[in-house]
Amino acid sequence: MVLKISKNLISLKPGDKVYVNNRNKNMVLFVVGKNDITKGLRVLGAHIDSPRIDIKQNPLYEKDGFVLLDTHYYGGIKKYQWVTIPLSMIGVVIKKDGTVIDINIGEKDDDPVFGVSDLLPHLAADQLKKTASEVIAGENLDLTFGSIPLKDEEKDCVKANILRLLKDQYDIEEEDFLSAEIEVVPSGKARDYGLDKSMILGYGHDDKCCAYTSLRAILDMNDVDYTSCCLLVDKEEIGSMGATGAQSVFFENSVAEVLNLCNHTSYLDLKRTFTNSKVLSSDVSNGFDPLYPEVCERKNSAFLGNGIVFNKYVGARGKSSSNDANAEYVAEIRKIMDESDIYFQTAEVGKVDQGGGGTISCYMANYNMDVIDAGIPILNMHAPYEVLSKVDLYEAYQAYKVFLQKA
Ligand code: MN
Ligand code: MN
Repeated sequence: MVLKISKNLISLKPGDKVYVNNRNKNMVLFVVGKNDITKGLRVLGAHIDSPRIDIKQNPLYEKDGFVLLDTHYYGGIKKYQWVTIPLSMIGVVIKKDGTVIDINIGEKDDDPVFGVSDLLPHLAADQLKKTASEVIAGENLDLTFGSIPLKDEEKDCVKANILRLLKDQYDIEEEDFLSAEIEVVPSGKARDYGLDKSMILGYGHDDKCCAYTSLRAILDMNDVDYTSCCLLVDKEEIGSMGATGAQSVFFENSVAEVLNLCNHTSYLDLKRTFTNSKVLSSDVSNGFDPLYPEVCERKNSAFLGNGIVFNKYVGARGKSSSNDANAEYVAEIRKIMDESDIYFQTAEVGKVDQGGGGTISCYMANYNMDVIDAGIPILNMHAPYEVLSKVDLYEAYQAYKVFLQKA
């Protein structure tokens, strides 16, 4: 039985499945274990936000016969990759009376798509002298939104027509963009990649490929010794801030609610539960790219098709800001994976001082839990379309299940 945590819920028993939804952006799911919950949790933590382009609060403007939407990109993107490709708009507009209007344009075959224009090469001589980080300015990532003028309108007639369409089709006024969250993402489905179909091309593999496999793993659990948990967080790509990010006390509060339903009401019991817990921070890693071998050190790199990848640490400039998993925990994870015939590899994010990255692992570790990064190596990370190996996707799913059952 799957239950939502609420005031009506009185107690939980082993095998019960409960979840908490935080503002429709962040969620935690539990399967209650046979052991007393204070013996610790087994946690799979992944993030469900991905790099993208967000619509600004005052986005609409008309210029030279076009209506455009002003945007602000979200997360670490190479801006030049996001121009001249079909884009969809996904999100919500919340009216002042609380009415929720769902926006989903660009995913159906007969939907229009949107895009960001770029210069023709014939006139790009000056543009092409700029560095790659400057060639597309952040303020130039504006979305082309329409071009037909409204009849008998004198000023901003194209914008007037767009406002009419927004009113007719969605019951949205221009001011309603103030309380909207509309995300602009690459349009289209994930596809098989390579003639042998060994890989998958898709938007947002970081980190939906680890979130999906973690979710599947927790949904598959029925009777577990330790209370199992899948935490799906928002805002990782901008630093895990906010009420729905990994730095929020939402996870702690939710665990406290579950403890309460297991007849543990003391703060000390909550703290002991955390101290006894173990976590796989399920996040993607950079796959070794044969076109760019110079940024990696081969022995400590993840290769597509070699299985789930464990990062003892990530970080940058001497492991800075990284969760460096303790060796005892790495040994335990190695043993479980070997005994269960899971293909795994270990890696760092690139060679020393090449760059680096972060995940939610350091925030999970702040609860004094054992944490290690464990995910899927991908190519083209943070590009509109990322690539993963089906082998690694499957091995990650198996590894997450084995972790919940045996760690
Ligand atoms: Mn990630
Ligand atoms: Mn990322």
